[in-house]
Amino acid sequence: MPESRKITLAKYAGFCYGVKRAVETVEKLKQENPEKKVCVLGELIHNNDVIKSLADHGVKTIETLPDSGEGYCVIRTHGQSPDVFEQIENAGFIPYDLTCPDVKKVQQKAIELVQNGYYLIIVGKEEHPEVVAIKANALQYGQKVIVATNIEQLKNFEEKLKENKKIGVVVQTTQMLSTLNPVVEFLTSVSKELIIYNTICPSTSRRQKEAEEMAKENDLMIVVGSKNSANTTHLADIAKKITNTIHIESEKELAQYKDIIDKTKKIGITAGASTPQNIIDKVIEELNK
Ligand code: SF4
Repeated sequence: MPESRKITLAKYAGFCYGVKRAVETVEKLKQENPEKKVCVLGELIHNNDVIKSLADHGVKTIETLPDSGEGYCVIRTHGQSPDVFEQIENAGFIPYDLTCPDVKKVQQKAIELVQNGYYLIIVGKEEHPEVVAIKANALQYGQKVIVATNIEQLKNFEEKLKENKKIGVVVQTTQMLSTLNPVVEFLTSVSKELIIYNTICPSTSRRQKEAEEMAKENDLMIVVGSKNSANTTHLADIAKKITNTIHIESEKELAQYKDIIDKTKKIGITAGASTPQNIIDKVIEELNK
């Protein structure tokens, strides 16, 4: 290790309040209802250790909804479509909604825009569960909904957008501002009336801003968290544009970057919203060895 190595941990690394709330509430739900079954539809967070720990406490993760069941079925922070809520009830479960309040706000804004005749643009990844749920909620009130992350995708709908004149935008909570900005610029040229709700959540904004600042000050950035996690991947993308960056899921992966780590004097560490503190601690411990 270089003698003067400095390791800086981001202030906003690890669980965001939505994830923290979800994990704590599920644990409490099971503790308070030991006789009842509790399952989560989809992974509560993208972290195997947390999923395993929940399973050890009797909280099962299910990928698909069975035809029949009992007890609580938890809706994770990404939210769900109204159809899925109905299917959960029809199957015999009690839905337990842990959609993050910030995601709920996006769903409400999306519904409001469609109800008021705006062509809704959801800036986000079509297949991401949060986006799927925002879209499904909006589609209950009208069919004019597009999901896009870039101008090329929007150009396919240019005529329709021009015809409608009124366009409204919401954003997946974990998107990057650099994805929203060019979309807004394009929409300005095709609309007569444009409403933009920048619904990137405050936790994501703070974390991304901090990652950018840290990347400017460090020779290497280590981003810790699942490679399936949108917000973690975005942190790595932001840092990569500025400095050397590695994205790891745990301290075990550090060995393959030994050469670059050994040569680096200033290392910055940040972590996604679903990365538990103990994993961040282990990464720091390993680096200090
Ligand atoms: S990243 Fe933001 S929107 Fe998603 S769970 Fe955390 S606080 Fe909520």
